[in-house]
Amino acid sequence: MKWEYDKKVDTLIERIKWADAILVGAAAGMSASCGFNFFYQNDSYFQKYLGEFHKKYRYTGAFNGFYYRYPSSEARWAFLARVCYMEYECETGKSYFDLMELLKGKNYHIMTTNQDFQFTRVVPEEKLSAIQGDSRYYQCSRRCHDEIFYNKDMVYAMNAAIDKNLCIPTDMIPHCPQCGAELEPWVRGYTFLEGEKYRDEYRKINEFLEQNKNSRILFLELGVGRMTPMFIQQPFWNMTYSLPQAYYITINPKDALLPGELEGKGTAIKEDIAVILKRAVEKRKKSGAGDEE
Ligand SMILES: [Zn+2]
Repeated sequence: MKWEYDKKVDTLIERIKWADAILVGAAAGMSASCGFNFFYQNDSYFQKYLGEFHKKYRYTGAFNGFYYRYPSSEARWAFLARVCYMEYECETGKSYFDLMELLKGKNYHIMTTNQDFQFTRVVPEEKLSAIQGDSRYYQCSRRCHDEIFYNKDMVYAMNAAIDKNLCIPTDMIPHCPQCGAELEPWVRGYTFLEGEKYRDEYRKINEFLEQNKNSRILFLELGVGRMTPMFIQQPFWNMTYSLPQAYYITINPKDALLPGELEGKGTAIKEDIAVILKRAVEKRKKSGAGDEE
């Protein structure tokens, strides 16, 4: 690794040690750094789980599968079941374990726009806010009521029932128990339900900020792209600017930006997230600094 990055890894380690509170904001780049590129590319996961869909419908990347106009609900639900099955079956990315190792013993909260629920494997739900939804749940497509439905059993059953035409049986299409409309994945989109669970995700963030806003607080941003800066990046910039003892670190191989106003209150690390987190864990282990808490 280049020396300039190694120095920045030291800054990351020092600031984690320095902080009384750490708010992590993680986006798509976090999962991409683990090698999960199936949302946008024809990677090995996409080929393994969605290769048949690619052959039939010609789209590449699971993201395009969500927007494809399927000939029937039976065909659409076959895709929705398969893509969610893939997320359940996918192993947990190494960067997630490295991040948790770095946060061990610290007072932290994690917010994420990722819907792939990777964080739920390594973080207790009380310390996690999924602000753009969570693929493990379905909601009513008409938003007729506030309930969301844990879908693992439905997903596995639907996936197992996909036939050679890439359809599921009509009677397996999940419907709202209240109004009878089809359910929808509980993820940001035209019909996204901002109900009780959504509000609870923000409650957790707000409580954490309220408790820690005047202490030494580190805003650690991981892999936020230029598409949706309003959910994590801009709030992190604003809070770092206005809170008395705040510091901001962004790790992003493409879009690591430090606004001029935050000069002296932040560091931008333009490097692969997996590489930086792994290096930080190794360096801290070597120096024994991770064992002090
Ligand atoms: Zn309904």
